[in-house]
Amino acid sequence: MIEFNNVTAYQGETKVLDGFSLTLEQGERVAILGPNGAGKSTLLKLVNRELYPVDREGSSLKLFGNDRVNLWDLRSKIGFVSQDLQEGYTPHTTALQVVVSGFFGAIGAHGHLQPSEDQREQARALMHSLGLHDEQALFERQSTGQKRRLLLARALVHHPHTLILDEPANGLDMGASLAMLSLLRSFCHEGRSMIITTHHIDEIIPETERVVLLRQGKVVADGPKAEILTSANLSELYETPLQITENNGWYRCWHG
Ligand code: ADP
Repeated sequence: MIEFNNVTAYQGETKVLDGFSLTLEQGERVAILGPNGAGKSTLLKLVNRELYPVDREGSSLKLFGNDRVNLWDLRSKIGFVSQDLQEGYTPHTTALQVVVSGFFGAIGAHGHLQPSEDQREQARALMHSLGLHDEQALFERQSTGQKRRLLLARALVHHPHTLILDEPANGLDMGASLAMLSLLRSFCHEGRSMIITTHHIDEIIPETERVVLLRQGKVVADGPKAEILTSANLSELYETPLQITENNGWYRCWHG
């Protein structure tokens, strides 16, 4: 579904990825784990076409088997939630407008993109199913947890088969974070693919099958979750002694 082959990419002046290769198959539930600055967000921005790799021979980034991707097609197949998206809305955008904007792959409300009544109804129904009831509430006045759920609703409104989430529980309080993880579990049970970045192993939901460890723009380990989430691997990744324990599919980490 997503194939990075020898990809080089910059963020501003910083070369974040250099000769980077990674393949993610459709149907997989993958967690990409790594310390701050490892390049996790950069990877996802490349997939979402918010950022483009350096164009050179022997290097490609294929989505659904193609080098060139129709953005509309991409937005209809993949639902994407990131921190940048959360910050991209204007002060007057309402909760319902945020969710409806998912039909157009757009941020915010645009005069020329008028949703149909049916689309508004679908957006409302999804909001309600995620516990969001005030459709006229201003997005910027919502709590971080509500904003994140609204963006999830936006990502889900056109039923994408894949969700890509950049640190979905980041900045949420304990209750909101656990509620978010429960929601993600239920999406997995509906058979969706999911790619999540995080730097907290306790945010890796039990449904995740594969874990990729990333450091300084390089894959340092990649494989089945139980083989990758070991004390030795995580200690090396974060350059400090860590002990990993597993309980019922959830992982925890201790220092020492
Ligand atoms: P992660 O998501 O793993 O924390 P990022 O992909 O956000 O890592 O960042 C990777 C590297 O790119 C870091 O060194 C970061 O400082 C740099 N970087 C990120 N965004 C920008 C930017 N807009 N301009 C310059 N450098 C950036």
